[in-house]
Amino acid sequence: MLLSWELSKHVWEIVEIRGWLHTVRVVSANLAFLILRDRDGLAQVVFEDANEIKKLEWCLLWTILSAKGTVAEMPKGKFRFELQKASVNVIRKVVYPSPIDISKDEIHADWETLLENKVVALRHPTQMKIFKLAAIIEKNMRAFFDQNWFTQINSPKIIGFPTEWWAEVFEIDYFGRKAYLAQSPQFYKQMMVPVFERVYEIGRAYRAEKSNTSRHLSEILMLDMEMGFIDSFDDIIEMTEKFANFVVKQTWTEAEHLLTALGATKPLLVDQFPRISVDDLHELMLKETGEDYRKEKDLAPSEEKFICEYSAKHWNSDFVIVDWFPWSDAKFYHHQNKENPNIADRADLLFRGVEIVTLTQREVNYQKLVDQIKAQGQNPEHPGLKHYLDSFKYGMPDEWGFGLGITRFIQKLIGLENIKEAELFPRDVQRITP
Ligand code: ATP
Ligand code: MG
Repeated sequence: MLLSWELSKHVWEIVEIRGWLHTVRVVSANLAFLILRDRDGLAQVVFEDANEIKKLEWCLLWTILSAKGTVAEMPKGKFRFELQKASVNVIRKVVYPSPIDISKDEIHADWETLLENKVVALRHPTQMKIFKLAAIIEKNMRAFFDQNWFTQINSPKIIGFPTEWWAEVFEIDYFGRKAYLAQSPQFYKQMMVPVFERVYEIGRAYRAEKSNTSRHLSEILMLDMEMGFIDSFDDIIEMTEKFANFVVKQTWTEAEHLLTALGATKPLLVDQFPRISVDDLHELMLKETGEDYRKEKDLAPSEEKFICEYSAKHWNSDFVIVDWFPWSDAKFYHHQNKENPNIADRADLLFRGVEIVTLTQREVNYQKLVDQIKAQGQNPEHPGLKHYLDSFKYGMPDEWGFGLGITRFIQKLIGLENIKEAELFPRDVQRITP
């Protein structure tokens, strides 16, 4: 049994392929064209025998079949190679009409219909390609960290203390007690630095985002990394640049056919990403657009969009780093800049209009950390913080880390309009099925 893409290697041989009926067009009693889908794509099968064509009667979309025939090369056809003079073996007939039509190059259905029928919509070659690509991207992210001697970890997702209590959190009933779904593996990855020095995790994170935007989901796939022994903030930036370069280049080398089929354009990529401080960005934004965000502590979505477009145009880079965020907006685990106490050692990596990474150097001095927790109105004695703090009591090197939204990165790398398109079964305010 061959796969559809292997036909090119077997011209004029008799071969068999199997899969799902994608479309069938009966031209006459003696001529029918069937498109069969397998895990690699589509293949055309031509039937010229009335008895074989009869077997296809009442076979609807998704009927499982195998087809045997002679491979022919059709230099001018939509399918370069096809099976001719084919015979068919109907393995499992489908008699229920499909809820959506996937026979065209694009699925023509509104969002709700598409999401409601995701189980079958995913069989569309374009849909399938998004998630084949997603798997390759994830693998390449893993490869980067493996090559740089990071250890992969898996932290719990049911937690007793909301690690990022400023963000919306899902509360759950845990055997009669209150528990939370982890918004990030923040505490756990930091706690593993004194064990492994360098760790990363690819896992689910839960954010009770009530807003319905094209960049937020309530369940996301995140890449988190944490690394001990650093000499300067520039080391952190350099590692992030290397990471992004590696993942984009490697994915392009490996999956250009998928990316091209999905209409993706190769990102503008430079070794060292352009960098701009939050204040300078506010000023530039004011100058170029008249919009004034100088009083804002974080970046407005319109600023993220603006600076990405600006960077692509003037700095030839689809990635841009914004740094020097105000200390007044820092989380308790962030590190205050030594020269300028008004800023945190934090940077955001933006890509094609949105933030994809927040990276920070961490505060590792136990007493300072306790003070920073208190300054944010939290109790360092809280059982959810105690274990975290222990790791700083007992020998923590200077360290940093980042969190990257993989789903958002995939969305932007392919150029999908909505982040929901980059999740198999997206979770948002309205939808928790399928
Ligand atoms: P944003 O301001 O875009 O909501 P954030 O600053 O709240 O993001 P972080 O806590 O810094 O997010 O999380 C790190 C990364 O995880 C973000 O840069 C983003 O790529 C991704 N991310 C965070 N929240 C979401 C979400 N609800 N949906 C999709 N991706 C998200
Ligand atoms: Mg952030």
